[in-house]
Amino acid sequence: MDTTAQPLAAAEALGAASRRVEPKVVAWRRDFHQHPELGNREFRTSRIVAEHLRALGIEVREKVAHTGVVGVLRGGKPGPVVALRADMDALPVAEETDVPFRSTVRTEWNGMSCGVMHACGHDAHTAILMGVAEVLAGMREHLSGSVKFLFQPAEEGAPGDENGGARMMIEEGCLEEPRVGAVFGLHVTSIHHTGKIGYRSGPLMASSDELRVFLRGSQTHGAMPWRGVDPIVLGSQVVVGLQTIVSRRMDITHEPSVVTVGVFHGGNRVNIIPDEVKLEGTIRAFDETQRADIHEHVKRITEMIAASGGARASVQIKRGYDVVVNDPALTEWAIPTLQRVAGEGNVGVVDKVCGAEDFSFYQKVVPGLFLRLGCTPPERDIRTAAPNHSPRLFVDESCLGLGVRSLSALALDWLCANAR
Ligand SMILES: [Zn+2]
Ligand SMILES: [Zn+2]
Repeated sequence: MDTTAQPLAAAEALGAASRRVEPKVVAWRRDFHQHPELGNREFRTSRIVAEHLRALGIEVREKVAHTGVVGVLRGGKPGPVVALRADMDALPVAEETDVPFRSTVRTEWNGMSCGVMHACGHDAHTAILMGVAEVLAGMREHLSGSVKFLFQPAEEGAPGDENGGARMMIEEGCLEEPRVGAVFGLHVTSIHHTGKIGYRSGPLMASSDELRVFLRGSQTHGAMPWRGVDPIVLGSQVVVGLQTIVSRRMDITHEPSVVTVGVFHGGNRVNIIPDEVKLEGTIRAFDETQRADIHEHVKRITEMIAASGGARASVQIKRGYDVVVNDPALTEWAIPTLQRVAGEGNVGVVDKVCGAEDFSFYQKVVPGLFLRLGCTPPERDIRTAAPNHSPRLFVDESCLGLGVRSLSALALDWLCANAR
């Protein structure tokens, strides 16, 4: 029996099916772009996704983690389960591009009126995965096992005190029944040109934790500081002290890390030393041990500087997303598939990114690979392309087809390679 004939036939069928679905993917993406919805509010988007999957004969579970949709496509042959993930949420950003389908949607966020825009390109991810579902549903007889489609809400974070995102999708069983063996996802990025796919084995994106510090001194007249405890001076020392963590305490040859103080609130008058100041910041790391060490240093430095001046410190660190770690074996395995789909010269190793992604939570449960899909037109200078989250982010639609072909091929090949 010729063992290569069947996968080759499947690869050809996949290419043709992807080309057929591409105009639809473009239309879906434009529609989502014009109707963006914030995290945990993706009602319209998830309804369109669920209707599409159902029409393809895919088993659908709705309202997973509030507005998420999980689809299961059972293949014609027995085998394992591979998951593909897209995120559906937009950002509270007022769009400034001049595309004809730009968003004019406004809503309320944190009690304030704001514009809404797919400024991170999740409209592209959702449309791509709908296209993948159509491609794979059309060739289900070639599938040795099942494909799970994870359309998740609130990747950018849930509003207020709500839960959401990947963590909640997992809590609600999206990786079980049937149990997933590997997960793939991608993100459009304007720092690469259309046609390019970037991968990286091991850590790709940083963990992201929130830091909150209250320094309680003792209020006094600004002209008589000796009669109180000045939390502004101590807070300033804390800011400087925290900057020594990465520069003096971390082995920067192992992994980079970042400690940023982005908020410093205190006082309301030129001549009054306030009782209290509040500092807030973000901590980024690519290694779990370093992450824990940074937390320790933040606590100790803050508490000891506060004590040195007679103030009391309260340090809260809220753990956010974990490090996106691409499974080395899975990454290695995926390269030939990606090269076949994108062309050898278009697939390459990319730098780490200090941004965070909740795809990391899936990767804690099953081996996962998160890819970067270039979305800046080839003629544009990368250095001037607006970054993700910018009101001017521009996604070149010709990247969508490559997204469909990549995820479809990875799913098909992974099932084929792992079927017993
Ligand atoms: Zn984002
Ligand atoms: Zn994103």
